[in-house]
Amino acid sequence: MVRLSVILPCHNEADNIPICYSRLTDILSSTGKTYECIFVDDGNTDHTLTVIKDLCRRDSRIRYISFSRNFGHQKALRAGLNAARGRAAVTMDADLQHPVSVIPELLARWEEGYEIVNTRRTDAARTGLFKRLTSRLFYRTLNFLTGMNLQKGAADFRLTDRKVTDVLCRCPENDLFLRGMINWCGFRQTTVAYRAENRHAGQSRYTLSRMAALALDGITSFTIRPLRLGVLLSGLFVLLGGAEIGYVCYVAFCTDRSVSGWASLAILITVLGAATLLMLGIIGEYVGRTFMQVKQRPPYIIRETNINDINPPTP
Ligand code: UDP
Ligand code: MG
Repeated sequence: MVRLSVILPCHNEADNIPICYSRLTDILSSTGKTYECIFVDDGNTDHTLTVIKDLCRRDSRIRYISFSRNFGHQKALRAGLNAARGRAAVTMDADLQHPVSVIPELLARWEEGYEIVNTRRTDAARTGLFKRLTSRLFYRTLNFLTGMNLQKGAADFRLTDRKVTDVLCRCPENDLFLRGMINWCGFRQTTVAYRAENRHAGQSRYTLSRMAALALDGITSFTIRPLRLGVLLSGLFVLLGGAEIGYVCYVAFCTDRSVSGWASLAILITVLGAATLLMLGIIGEYVGRTFMQVKQRPPYIIRETNINDINPPTP
């Protein structure tokens, strides 16, 4: 069994892969460990797959999985973990933002006995203001709603021991939110700080809407707290209704005025309608996800691969 598997999800990274490969082989060879690199072609529209296949011809330690279409970063990571054969697996970006020079430190921590070695980005200045703000909002919301303790700057750059990788591979969830699963599954964990590099070529695929979708996946996979919002809202409206009844009784019995005010009625109807729709939307999110899960579709489809004994995706 190889000692280390390095998993790199790729979406249109043709310009980054050659340099990423050469840095990786330099570092991994210097560690003296047996290793494999698994590139996951996540529905690329450029010549990323050709570049990866070229590497495979030159180096037998390079493996690839090519998806039938774009399934997203998390699914690509999952496919890589499913295929990994190493005693330890490192997941990292293929755009050189995660420095390969950190890998020996991850390995050193693993050899000290840690089963999960997370990483934390320290130099926020290199990251754009927008990315920093949305990332902060993302973790704040997620931690508040789920009660998890995800660190800002946490990324899917980490080492997991075979035991952990096996646990992750056995999880049948469709929307596997890896950062949350890692937090949830326990084991001995530690964190290593690193200075993120700039993206070597191309642009980030994590747009605002993708970040929002990821946050929703995270929230709905780890908590049902939003569903309880309905109970809170109903409590609020009972109080509001009570106050309204009190006011009407007071005006009717204690004054010689008659109760008027279509404006307050209109406001009440609007607010109540908005709250009802909000709750319907939240319930819909959970019902929709349950519906997708019970269909038991595989989370991704592999079009081709050079890995023979690959585990099929858990539906
Ligand atoms: N990626 C992927 N599928 C996607 C989007 C991204 O496999 O649909 C890969 C991408 O090639 C990169 C990693 O996931 O290796 C992180 O993506 P990106 O750099 O766009 O995100 P950021 O680093 O800006 O959060
Ligand atoms: Mg990146």
